[in-house]
Parts: sequence; structure tokens; C-alpha cells
Amino acid sequence: MYKKITEEIRERLEKIVSRENLTFDSEKMVDYSHDEFSLTEIARMPELVVKPKKTEEAAEIIRLANKEMIPVTPRGGATGLCGGCVPSYGGIVLSLERMNQIIEVDRENQMAVVEAGVTLMDFYVAVEEAGLFFPPHPGEESAMIGGVIATNAGGARAVKYGVVRNYVRGLEVVLPTGNIVHLGGKLMKSSTGYNLLNLIIGSEGTLGIITKATIQLMPSPQVIRSLIIPYDDLGDAIETVPLLIRQKILPMAVEFVPREVIEITEKFLKKKWPSSLGNTYLLIILDASSEEEMDRLSELVAGVCMEKGAVDVFVADNPEKQRQVLDIRSKIYEAIKAHTLEILDIVIPRAEIARHVKRVQEVSQKYGIWLPTFGHAADGNVHTHIMSARFEMGKITPLSEDESKAKLEKVREELYRDCKNREGMISGEHGIGIVKKPYLSYVLEKETIALMKGIKNHFDPKNILNPGKIFD
Ligand SMILES: Cc1cc2nc3c(=O)[nH]c(=O)nc-3n(C[C@H](O)[C@H](O)[C@H](O)COP(=O)(O)OP(=O)(O)OC[C@H]3O[C@@H](n4cnc5c(N)ncnc54)[C@H](O)[C@@H]3O)c2cc1C
Repeated sequence: MYKKITEEIRERLEKIVSRENLTFDSEKMVDYSHDEFSLTEIARMPELVVKPKKTEEAAEIIRLANKEMIPVTPRGGATGLCGGCVPSYGGIVLSLERMNQIIEVDRENQMAVVEAGVTLMDFYVAVEEAGLFFPPHPGEESAMIGGVIATNAGGARAVKYGVVRNYVRGLEVVLPTGNIVHLGGKLMKSSTGYNLLNLIIGSEGTLGIITKATIQLMPSPQVIRSLIIPYDDLGDAIETVPLLIRQKILPMAVEFVPREVIEITEKFLKKKWPSSLGNTYLLIILDASSEEEMDRLSELVAGVCMEKGAVDVFVADNPEKQRQVLDIRSKIYEAIKAHTLEILDIVIPRAEIARHVKRVQEVSQKYGIWLPTFGHAADGNVHTHIMSARFEMGKITPLSEDESKAKLEKVREELYRDCKNREGMISGEHGIGIVKKPYLSYVLEKETIALMKGIKNHFDPKNILNPGKIFD
């Protein structure tokens, strides 16, 4: 039903963005055929990549694609983990990389207005220079603002500060018809009709192309400190979290990480983690308004952890030590990437984490496959990594391709069933994309999926914008 891009269409696109902003050389397009999801079978080459500089150019491209029945896939930093920006039906990849202007950081309203192609890295720098703070921190800073909004990204600080959705106040969006709409603004609240702004957030590029965003900022925390707490027992580590919350301590982030992946990452980076005790670690990041308040909080946290069976408490109390710890935590993915088949993104009620992780360990034993699990212990978002390897006595033993693929299906299935039984969802922050599509009906009622399909059909009756994502 989709049409191929003809010479004539290519010339018309060239008139919109000029020749140097079109790519159709297959070698150069390989990078645009995948995201960070590991398995290559979901990759697909586009027929052409187009890089608009202005919203009006993006709109013109969409109008042309809509008229000619050509699929368009929006693409940000391509750091996604479920194939969201892969052009499943070929056609055009519309890359936002040239729309990378920070239009303003408005100190008076504590809002930033930015184009969709600004990377998180550049955004954090601009916000910090203005003495302000953007709390969400998804782990990969080459992601772009449009992408983090389209996936409603989360990150480690969600437990205290929420996810990207909580900070988006306004959007400029190019609809699949090529019309441009402006939703919200520099407003702290609005009860003016249906909340279309929130419908676009997390819609994974299926309802519109985000070209500009207004983002609320916060005052910076005065003092930040990381505590590294080894435990012998993973269950004890995870069960510490509700105890902290019962004591009215809400950390900025609580991550749990098994020792094996820390050791692999230490070697990979040639950096040292502050402790080699225990089998598993809690990394607790606290923020406070003064040093005195921070000392009081740290002592409280240490007390709760030690009572729950922690082996020790290490404090990264200066910026250099903090950087070292966060560096190791954020590079785990890179260190184990070569053996990673897929990263699950299950979210369950946080009181269920320990039981879910126990189930992961049983599944790992049952299938003889390494399933390192770590994640955001305080918000219920667990990232089990399905590996093409076994991990025994500190050694990685790779599995054959056939064996890993057969195990991948079974492990996924078992863990998604466990997620459903615990009233969880199959994605807490990465989105559905292509990879999780077959499992949507595990966790959503068919009436809910039908409503979602109706919305998609209303926005995009010709199904030209990012077809093949979330559902068919
Ligand atoms: C090492 C690593 C760590 C990560 N850590 C986290 C984490 O802590 N938390 C988290 O939530 N995620 C994390 N991620 C996943 C990823 O970074 C996020 O999903 C991120 O939001 C994707 O942004 P992107 O710009 O790379 O989007 P892309 O991968 O380019 O696209 C993602 C989706 O958004 C759509 N899209 C992109 N731009 C637009 C636009 N302008 N308008 C409309 N749709 C658009 C695409 O079509 C696609 O469906 C991590 C990934 C890696 C590799």
C-alpha cells in the first residue's frame, strides 16, 4: 500500500531541505536503520534520510509524504532500546538532528524552550549555566529532547522527581497531515479541554513529530551525596527501600546492582568501585538543602540499611568520588553490551520487586542463561538483561546463536507473565516500539488497545507516521 520514493519525489524533497540535507547513499544510511536494540533482525534500511532545519520544512515533508503514501519515521538520538526509530516499512527517516537550537532558558518562569534535536547533554549544560536543574536523567545523554518526550523517558531520579512527562509544559507538533499545532505553553497548569499535550508525550512518534518543547525547570539541589551499600542478600537490599520510605526518606535515586556487573565494568573502564564487599549493592543518591541536613539524612539511611543486613556503608562525599561511582553505574550497559540480547523494562508495584527478581533468578537457573538484573529499586522499574551467555564462577561462557534465540523467547515470555501476575506493565520508560508489540495484549485490555488504535486512526488515517510501532 505504501509507494516507493521516485526520482520526482526526491527532487521535491531536495527543494524543501536542499541537496546536502538528504541522504540516499546506502552506506551512509546504515546508521539510520537501527537504534540501540541489540538484535540486528529488526533493522531496516530507509529509502532516504531527510534532515529539516525548521518546523515548516518538517511540515512540508510530511504533507508530501501523506499525499504520496510514503511512510515517515521520526528519529532523535537513536538511543532507544525497542526499535522505535527503525523505519519498519522503509520510506523516509526524518532526522531531527539539525533542529538543535536552545531557543531560550527563561529564568523568570523557570522554563526552557528548545528544538527537538537538542541532545540531553547540551540541554543539561545550558540549564546548569542558568543555575537551574532539569531533574529527569535518562541514562544516555546523546538522546534528544524530542526522543525523550516521545518515549516519556524516566531514569534513576524518577522516584523523587518523576519522569519527563512531569516537566513538559508545551509542545509544537507536526501532525501526520502536515498541519502544525501548539499545545500548552509556559503554563504551570491548564484545564482547557482534553490534554492532547500528554497524549503526544509517550506516543513514540506515531501521532506527530515533536519539533519544539517548553520544559519546566527546578531550582538546583544544594547538596548531593551518593551512598554505596553492599549486601550479601539481594532480597535484603531491595526490602530496605520500603523501610526508607516508611521513615519518610525519599532519596533522589535508589539503584540496585549485582556485584558481577560492577566488577566487569570496573575492568572495562579501569576504574574502582568503592567497595568489593557483598554480592549486591544499593546505590542511594540523596539531595538536601544544607550539609547539616545531608549529614542527618545520610546517618538515618545508613542506620536503616545496617539494620536490614547491609555489610557496610560507603559515602562518595566529594564530586570526584561521585563522578567515579556514577560513571561506573552508567557504563554497565557498554561493558556488557557485547553479550546483551535484550534489555527488559518491566515496571511493577515496588513492593513486588524482590519477588520478581527472585523469579528472574529461578528463570535464569531453569534455562541456564545469564540474566543480570538491575534497576531503579525505588520506582519498581527493573531492567533484566537477557544475555547470550551463561555466567558461572565469575566467567562468561557465550551461548550459540541458535541456543540464545530459543532461550530469549522463553525467558521473555516467562518474565512478562510474571509481570502481568504482579499487575505490572511491560515498559516503564523505554516504550513498546517493535520489540514489545507482541506482548502488549498481556498487560492491556483489548478495549484499551482498541481505543489507542482509534486515536491513531483519527490522527493518521493513512498510517504514514511511524507505522508498525506499538501495535499493528
Ligand atoms: C546506555 C543507555 C541507557 C539508557 N538509560 C535510559 C534510562 O535511564 N531511562 C530511559 O527512559 N531510557 C533510557 N535509555 C533509552 C533511550 O535513551 C530513551 O528511550 C530515549 O528517550 C530515546 O531518545 P532518542 O532521542 O534516542 O530517541 P530515538 O531512539 O531516536 O527514538 C525513540 C522513539 O521516539 C520517536 N521520536 C524521536 N524523536 C521524535 C520527535 N522529535 N518527534 C516524535 N517522535 C520522535 C522515534 O520515532 C521512536 O519511536 C537508555 C539507552 C541506553 C543506550
